[in-house]
Amino acid sequence: MAFEGLAERLQETMSKIKGKGKVSEADVKTMAREVRLALLEADVNFKVVKQFVNRVKERAVGQEVMKSLTPGQQVIKVVNEELTDLMGREESKLEQAEKPPTVIMMVGLQGSGKTTTAAKLANYLRKEKNRNPMLVAADVYRPAAIDQLNTLGKQLNMPVYSQGTEANPVDIVREGVEQAKAENHDYVLLDTAGRLHVDETLMEELQGMKDAVQPDEVLLVVDAMTGQDAVNVAEHFNEQLSISGVVLTKLDGDTRGGAALSIRAVTEKPIKFAGMGEKIDQLETFHPERMASRILG
Ligand code: GDP
Repeated sequence: MAFEGLAERLQETMSKIKGKGKVSEADVKTMAREVRLALLEADVNFKVVKQFVNRVKERAVGQEVMKSLTPGQQVIKVVNEELTDLMGREESKLEQAEKPPTVIMMVGLQGSGKTTTAAKLANYLRKEKNRNPMLVAADVYRPAAIDQLNTLGKQLNMPVYSQGTEANPVDIVREGVEQAKAENHDYVLLDTAGRLHVDETLMEELQGMKDAVQPDEVLLVVDAMTGQDAVNVAEHFNEQLSISGVVLTKLDGDTRGGAALSIRAVTEKPIKFAGMGEKIDQLETFHPERMASRILG
């Protein structure tokens, strides 16, 4: 299960402070030290940990006394609120174009789950939001990606626009969006190429696609299992392409939590969705509050 180690450690730390009728500065210090270690061990970015712990310390020591909670409970409330804030506080909605179709460009490294997530998102939009999406297969470097998206499209009974692997990806997305317009689709999801690592050529190509279709969302798909690598990837993509949000995949795995807890703070871009399995319906909107409560128990 995701966050298992972190949840266990934080819950243990919180249980020590929970019943306290009086919380001294020394208690806060001990708590903060344990929280710090737990977060570092969960692979949370060290700068993020530092800021987080400082804020918790400040608030836990300087907090107002509330009659409804014991001092120990108040400290836990502070940690809970700060954890929620770290992941973005509120659920972040998808943008919607004033004039349809809304164009969503999916970007990310190979293997992150981009193609699967494009189909999952299309399925979500149709099922949950009553939309009529279309998919565009523009990952021309991984031939299997186009077949994969076609298969997923068939499974969903949803149109997939493609021009094979020989065409220019910028032309593919431009013409794909035109087709979506002509066929009155209100959403169009672009599956773009990934690479094994971030590189200049990839970024230039993605920028070309972005310029050509002016997407309403550029969603970066990252594998939560890769921890700080995912955070570095997100930083790069954001710097070069200015993403609008993140989809964290494989949160059903036993990720320690580093990516989920650092990405928002490092990129200042919201996590919009979470992949919770390989199946087409295993995509959830990302709720920072629920995630924090899951960690703190
Ligand atoms: P792409 O190269 O980025 O397009 O990646 P794919 O969409 O082909 O996904 C790579 C692998 O990750 C596939 O085996 C997917 O089934 C798997 N995958 C994608 N999202 C999730 C997820 O949320 N959870 C799990 N467990 N597997 C996922």
